[in-house]
Amino acid sequence: MDEQADAFESHPEARYGGAGRMSDATVAAHEEAAATLADFAPAANGFTGRDIPPDDVFNRCVRCGLCLPTCPTYVETMVETSSPRGRIALIKSVAEGQLDLLSPGFMHQMSECLDCRACEAVCPSGVEYGKLLEPARTQVNRALEQERGPIKNFVRHLLLHVLFGNLAIMRLVSRVLWLVQRLGLQAFAQKSGLARLFGMEKMIDLAPRMSDTFFVARDQRWEATGAKKATVFLHGGCIMATAFAEIDFATVRVLQRAGCEVLAPAAQGCCGAITVHAGDMDAGRELAKRNIEAFEQSGADYYIINAAGCGSTLKEYGHLFHEDPQWHARAVRFAAKVRDITEFLDEIGIDENLGRIEATVTYQEPCHLVHAQRITQAPRNLLRKIPGLTLVEMDESSLCCGSAGIYNLTQPEMSQRLMERKAKNAAATGASCCATANPGCQLQVQAGLRREGSEMSVRHIIELLDESYRVGDASRGTPATP
Ligand code: SF4
Ligand code: SF4
Repeated sequence: MDEQADAFESHPEARYGGAGRMSDATVAAHEEAAATLADFAPAANGFTGRDIPPDDVFNRCVRCGLCLPTCPTYVETMVETSSPRGRIALIKSVAEGQLDLLSPGFMHQMSECLDCRACEAVCPSGVEYGKLLEPARTQVNRALEQERGPIKNFVRHLLLHVLFGNLAIMRLVSRVLWLVQRLGLQAFAQKSGLARLFGMEKMIDLAPRMSDTFFVARDQRWEATGAKKATVFLHGGCIMATAFAEIDFATVRVLQRAGCEVLAPAAQGCCGAITVHAGDMDAGRELAKRNIEAFEQSGADYYIINAAGCGSTLKEYGHLFHEDPQWHARAVRFAAKVRDITEFLDEIGIDENLGRIEATVTYQEPCHLVHAQRITQAPRNLLRKIPGLTLVEMDESSLCCGSAGIYNLTQPEMSQRLMERKAKNAAATGASCCATANPGCQLQVQAGLRREGSEMSVRHIIELLDESYRVGDASRGTPATP
């Protein structure tokens, strides 16, 4: 059973060959899944208890295959079971007792899926794939708890409950990482070969460079510049507030200039995206309750988020509590007030006193913005407002970059393939900067471009707007927004 636990965490035996070709080990893994299906052996483990993938969702799939070309793992492997249609069939098979929940093929597919939701966005039958995958992962994880052993369960608990469950601990760990980075120990580990020796090369390569000053929500209130349009609650985030804190500070400034009073209530916490995507919906609900309460007490009009992955989870709190009559209505009310920063600014209008940025910029669409939230034009509209900036589109801008929460740790090979694909597409535009709207994408695309030998920078759209304001203010001699 420990082998099955390992298979779900990383499935190291499932290695891929070149695009569209599979290695023998991968063929074996898929054959194993197919054999289990063909045998129709009575399944020892099925879906039980809370969070069961709903049959009215998977039964809506008419197997048309229109989603296949949009699926990154299918595009890379051309294997049916690595496609949305294939995964839906596997979930249905487990639900109908024809396939074991803990069969390696099933666990591998639940892990290999990026949860990018590209399939959901194009499905003509309206199959809400996210409502299948997250419960299916949660079911697998609950079943594996007995099998993983205390050490693996403890590590998982530390990561999902302790680290992401408490922003003070997240800041403490981030500060230690900051110290390691500033003392040059990270670079030393890479150059000396120590990182490779301990198998941590990729992890170190992808680790974000921590900000010098973290964004800490301490019940601050920043006044609107000019006439006030709204009072907004700013969700500072966990990774965003420690590794990309300058984006949080820039978000405050841009919102002020857009006529918003900005609140940063200390009661907020992590949104739960990482925990929900990792198949722990119970932990996700605990985090969600904290944010719902904090927002209700704040009196703000909107809940603003500058990370696309977090935004889609926050907007889906209603579904997270659909089995909980006590919290469901509150979660639905909360979700209706959540806005991605680009969507919100495009909606209320920004301060148009922007300065020139002479640059060619391409835009990498975060999956959870374009597919899960269906926001495509707002980020582009904002970029086009910056004088001097030329926006050029890259090929496959909405194909996942392979970041997907902790996917680059659980599925490093597929993650790397998608990262290289994205970096090549971005570099081919000839742009000097790649804009995005999610910290995970920012890290992944940065790492991909670095490996490509490209000097293209990767910036959040808000950083570009903030910089444009600074340039404009400097040219007019206007004092900067505090
Ligand atoms: S597009 Fe929708 S209905 Fe068609 S195969 Fe994909 S999930 Fe099923
Ligand atoms: S969520 Fe993304 S990776 Fe998963 S099946 Fe759908 S398109 Fe493929």
